[in-house]
Amino acid sequence: FKINMDEMEIVGELGKGNYGSVQQVYHRPSEINMAMKEIRLELDESKLNGIIMELDVLHRAVAPEIVEFYGAFTIESCVYYCMEYMDAGSLDTLTGGGVPLADAKAEEGEEGCALRVPEPVLRRITAAMVRGLKFLKDELQIMHRDVKPTNVLINKKGEVKLVDFGVSGQLEKSLAKTNIGCQSYMAPERIKGESQNQPSTYTVSSDVWSVGLSIIELAKGCYPFPPETFANVFAQLQAIVYGPAPTLPPGYSADAQDFVAKCLIKDANGRPTYAQLLEHPFLAADKDAEVDMAGWVAEALERRAARGVKPLAMVEA
Ligand code: ADP
Repeated sequence: FKINMDEMEIVGELGKGNYGSVQQVYHRPSEINMAMKEIRLELDESKLNGIIMELDVLHRAVAPEIVEFYGAFTIESCVYYCMEYMDAGSLDTLTGGGVPLADAKAEEGEEGCALRVPEPVLRRITAAMVRGLKFLKDELQIMHRDVKPTNVLINKKGEVKLVDFGVSGQLEKSLAKTNIGCQSYMAPERIKGESQNQPSTYTVSSDVWSVGLSIIELAKGCYPFPPETFANVFAQLQAIVYGPAPTLPPGYSADAQDFVAKCLIKDANGRPTYAQLLEHPFLAADKDAEVDMAGWVAEALERRAARGVKPLAMVEA
């Protein structure tokens, strides 16, 4: 179905991104709660329409590990992107938000970060990410290009889904310029390629690197490269390209450690494929496991509320 702004009731703000805000909206005709992302772009109308057309392939991106796309439209110079509302938000805000935590109730992790994701939960989250990425590659022939904890969403049922992947060349081009953040999830070959103006060195295994880094961040509750690199982009990129790869905090199994080590192999050609990752003992153990994901999400939401983070939606659906 085609959607437009007149059919929406604004429920409340879910978050702010680099390019605009994300609102929770109620779509009256379908009676669906949605998340509507506003992306402000200084582009002429034909380019904006081009983006809307490119986003259309998202209607084919239907998988349990992908946030469902409902449609997009433009108003003036903004693109409005409507998607499935994920009522527990992004993984970073659930497990730490990139900030070292002083949470007395959490098990002590190293360096002041809090260890808060039991291995079976971490395993299930990782399996969902890998299956989602494999689906995008096999079924839509696309790479994600921006795998990081803020782009992994979760709901109270415990479902884990990917969002914000690169389907629109035009949109990517318009957003890319300001995209060097203070915490980089880019693989070494991509950093080297961009510094030499050869972005073609970017392949599907660059997303595998970002998976490894993201799950370490989830496990630690904060970005894995040393804090002294946060304020210095150059030092951070140096550390990623030449420094030792980060590891999981103590307490995780040897299989888990091996899994992230393989994701973080510096040579992109040495990293496993998605099929190999799914067969790795760390993820293979997920198949028949009973994991109370909904229970873990509920606890994590309580901890987040206790830290004083504003609940996602101000009005419950
Ligand atoms: P960024 O630009 O940093 O990637 P986004 O603009 O994608 O951030 O999103 C900002 C915040 O809005 C996210 O951190 C998340 O908490 C929230 N959000 C985004 N999409 C959804 C969604 N589909 N459901 C619920 N919350 C969402």
